[in-house]
Amino acid sequence: MKTVVLKFGGTSVGSIDRIKKVCTIIASYKKKRNRVVVISSAMSGVTNELVNKSKLISNSFNDAEYDTLLSTGEQASCALIAGRLIHNGYKARSWMSWQIPIITDGPYSCARINKVVVKNLKNYLKNGGIPIITGFQGINSEYRLTTIGRSGSDATAIMLAKFIKADECIIYTDVDGVYTTDPRQYKNARKIKKIFYDEMLEMASLGSKVMQPTSVQDAKLNNIDIQVKSSFVSKPGTLITDSKKAFSDQIITGISSTKNDAKITIEGVKDRPGVAACIFKPLSNNLINVDMVVQNISLNGKETDLTFTIKSEDLKKTEKLINKNKKISYKKLSFDKNVSKVSIIGVGMITTPGITYRMFKALASKKINIQVISTSEIKISVLVSAKNVKKAVAVLHKEFKLD
Ligand code: ASP
Ligand code: MG
Repeated sequence: MKTVVLKFGGTSVGSIDRIKKVCTIIASYKKKRNRVVVISSAMSGVTNELVNKSKLISNSFNDAEYDTLLSTGEQASCALIAGRLIHNGYKARSWMSWQIPIITDGPYSCARINKVVVKNLKNYLKNGGIPIITGFQGINSEYRLTTIGRSGSDATAIMLAKFIKADECIIYTDVDGVYTTDPRQYKNARKIKKIFYDEMLEMASLGSKVMQPTSVQDAKLNNIDIQVKSSFVSKPGTLITDSKKAFSDQIITGISSTKNDAKITIEGVKDRPGVAACIFKPLSNNLINVDMVVQNISLNGKETDLTFTIKSEDLKKTEKLINKNKKISYKKLSFDKNVSKVSIIGVGMITTPGITYRMFKALASKKINIQVISTSEIKISVLVSAKNVKKAVAVLHKEFKLD
């Protein structure tokens, strides 16, 4: 008998009708004689409403009470799902994280699950019951409720799959899988059948918001395969798995692009040890994330130019920090808000030479200028003018046969 973990996101349980639909999905797994564990998010919009209420009470709302408040949304959706399953003649019950318990570590709002006590759950499953478990939360060593970061129900599902030793973990959401690039931006985007954890992490952090990145990290660490599927339409989804377990003949798996990047260039900075550290220290102290960095070789050995990218929302702050930084001198400071990063991602590039050349050649064929380049083992990113993003994604999508 297989054990499956099914997770339903906020839009999947967003209305009474949706909850009834979800219960037919759950029943279909039960009818196939699986042991079924369900994790649910709050109904969509509920958690945001709770956040807003806390702000109206206090602009420095107590951390522990904040988590207690935010975790209430899942209690309601789980009871509604369980209630419907019971109505339909199934054995089901809601299970709050503290009743299991799901034990977490770390600060409120971003705790991490480190243990799930599965003894009672296992007995219940053995007796044919369907546990409906609150996602996104747990308790800490002081028995206080904690939450594990927004969209955290994904991580709850993965940790349950790990501790209960599930055969499958299926994430039901409002999209039917992971795409080669954003299908709303590019109509030839295709659904990816199989993607590796590392690729998914790159895709997620680069803007494809299908799954919460920490949950993909958890899945990778614990070697849990994930199926991403839609609860709205019945179609095959995307499998997220380990590259050691599966084979793929695709060199490039996906292409992502960012919005809201900004480029900063500091011309004529002194070329001596410690200067870059002096520039970046105040940015790091102010939690400004620096992404791509390039420094020119200085021709005269005295001065150099430094270019880097940040999120546009940090631009004002960064400008101020550089202006008031007494430790550096430079000739000119310039900014460009209209830039975007386009990346090609794929574990296949580790073993295939010539990918960088093919990428640059394709961009050149469309007269797209590359401003900054950065690479990792499985990713090549270029910074281009924002007006060229669509063209760049299209030409790369074709070049790497993803259309
Ligand atoms: N309800 C929580 C949120 O909106 C957790 C989740 O949706 O996974 O962030
Ligand atoms: Mg959600």
